[in-house]
Amino acid sequence: MKVYTLNHRSIVATVFVCSLIIVDVESAALIEAAGETGSHEGGIDLTAISSYHQIVKWLGHISETYPSTVQIHDLGRTAENRSILVVEIGRAAEKPETSSPADARKQLVTRPSVFLDAGTHGREQITVTIALRLISKLIGAITRNETSQFTEVKWYITPLVNPDGYEYSRNIARSWRKNRSTHPGSSCTGVDINRNWRVHWDSDEPERVPKDTAGSAGNKILSSVAWLWSSFLHPENTVRQLGTMTPCSELYGGPSPFSEFESRSLSQFILNLTRVPAERLESCFSLHSMTGNQELLFPYGYKIDRVPDYEALNSLARDMTREMAKVAGRQYKYGGVAETLYQSSGLQCDWIYSVAGVNRTFVVEVADNFRIAPAGLISKAFGELWAALDVLLKA
Ligand SMILES: [Zn+2]
Repeated sequence: MKVYTLNHRSIVATVFVCSLIIVDVESAALIEAAGETGSHEGGIDLTAISSYHQIVKWLGHISETYPSTVQIHDLGRTAENRSILVVEIGRAAEKPETSSPADARKQLVTRPSVFLDAGTHGREQITVTIALRLISKLIGAITRNETSQFTEVKWYITPLVNPDGYEYSRNIARSWRKNRSTHPGSSCTGVDINRNWRVHWDSDEPERVPKDTAGSAGNKILSSVAWLWSSFLHPENTVRQLGTMTPCSELYGGPSPFSEFESRSLSQFILNLTRVPAERLESCFSLHSMTGNQELLFPYGYKIDRVPDYEALNSLARDMTREMAKVAGRQYKYGGVAETLYQSSGLQCDWIYSVAGVNRTFVVEVADNFRIAPAGLISKAFGELWAALDVLLKA
């Protein structure tokens, strides 16, 4: 296996390029079956929670087995020296063995691409397995030469955004949410990666939204009233918001926007994708999990105001949740983050929508219990995700 440092049109990443082998269709079926049945093809159980090392090993295995379908981008190292890996999957990843990644990239067929991430919050372990199952199923479909909306796009999947928090949750404190970075002046460890994006990062309240994006004075007043009313109805959400500036809070947004390697490196990767015309990044999907409910959300999170294309996103979300409900009978709530879940600042989805300019940006909150991860829970949520993506890709 050769290792290259890719620096093409500002995409900076280490790419593992494996020697070309004939695609083993039977093996592909086994790997996909691992996601469906829980077998251990490639050394991982895709119905359970795996360790960071098992995940990295499995991703290495599939990239070596299917070099024309899979590429691994290593974004670099976290505070505890773990890698954040982006898995690129698609027919378009076909590259001659002898060419450099930069040369090979020029040969790519222009296709729409989808970015999907999971594991931002340490305790949301099941989202990681769900993302791994998606990787498994996509590879199976592509290597069997199936033609569907799933195989006609290129995928960028980050199954584990926060490996440090994930391992801490697995091994030490099950309910751990943040990463494991430390900052001068604070005795507490960790930042909530999904409060650390450079988008209205310090806007706990609408009044603090930067002038250039805050809208008219009238809108600001309405927004403030909406925020106060929301706070009155849901006082727990107000606490969540205020916590973003408190280092010991599990919602701490960090000492500054993009202070965290995880959000910074991911944002750079996404931004670079949007700058390469051939990539045509059209949709972003972020997997999270929560107790007591399941939701399909889209921006904005920092304010109650609706995004300009609210009707289109809401209609799409309605169609997606209708199909998701057919999988296991669970109805997902849907709508803007602020109006449906809670209002908060520095969110990844707001950044992708407002800064990266990807309109089809969704957050899925699948049902979780944050204790154990029964295979049934993972399977249901995976089925629901697949149904949602099916609608999204056809739209
Ligand atoms: Zn989460």
